[in-house]
Amino acid sequence: MILETIRQEAKAFGVDLSEDQAVQFDRYFHLLAEWNEKINLTAITEEKEVLIKHFLDSLSGAKYMRLEDRISVADIGTGAGFPGMALAIAFPKVHFTLMDATGKKVRFLQMVSDTLGLRNVTAVQGRAEELAHDPAYREQFDIVTSRAVASLPVLLEYCAGFVKKGGVIAAYKGPSLDEELALARTAVPKLHLELKQKEEIRIGDHSHTIAVFEKKKALEERYPRPHAQIRKKSL
Ligand code: SAH
Repeated sequence: MILETIRQEAKAFGVDLSEDQAVQFDRYFHLLAEWNEKINLTAITEEKEVLIKHFLDSLSGAKYMRLEDRISVADIGTGAGFPGMALAIAFPKVHFTLMDATGKKVRFLQMVSDTLGLRNVTAVQGRAEELAHDPAYREQFDIVTSRAVASLPVLLEYCAGFVKKGGVIAAYKGPSLDEELALARTAVPKLHLELKQKEEIRIGDHSHTIAVFEKKKALEERYPRPHAQIRKKSL
């Protein structure tokens, strides 16, 4: 099913998949189903739902980012690889660093990357607010993506440290994006971000939103703040 439809459906988002890439998605689906019995990776397991809510949902953001060859992308709180691993399959010339706090998810991602033979994926375990202070990752990425990790002000604080000046953050969000943008109205300028685009994306009956922010200048060292401070009060 995934094999038959993913190529056709992905075209709607400007993503052209080869037959080999469709096979990679099919294998990814089977690995997800298999590992999900041992470790908790996703609540969505039915094939058509995985296709729509994970694979196509991840790919649907591609046209709002410039995923050109040799660009570097970080996906923060990637979980079982969404949107990062799905985009990595579709864009083999773009390098993806997939980050998550949970070790077993990172081991799953490494296994998927090895099994599919992906050469453009690095999986890293750690908390975003700590990794963002590591010189290996700080302001190193052209694009930072994130889906279903935290409320927008918290998410932007996690992501802003990773993105280069002039780069973008693409936040995959649910239906209440405008409310979240209102909550983030002080965080956005504090983190030297500017909202560039917001869109609603429909995939059949399923819909989600995406907000793209550009980073206007280097971020002060004090951001992101330590976990306890972020939890206590978002920006
Ligand atoms: N992006 C995936 C997973 C969402 S679940 C998807 O949309 O399907 C949220 C994930 O974020 C979990 O895997 C959790 O381990 C991770 N996470 C939450 N807070 C984090 C943090 N501060 N740093 C890194 N990962 C975090």
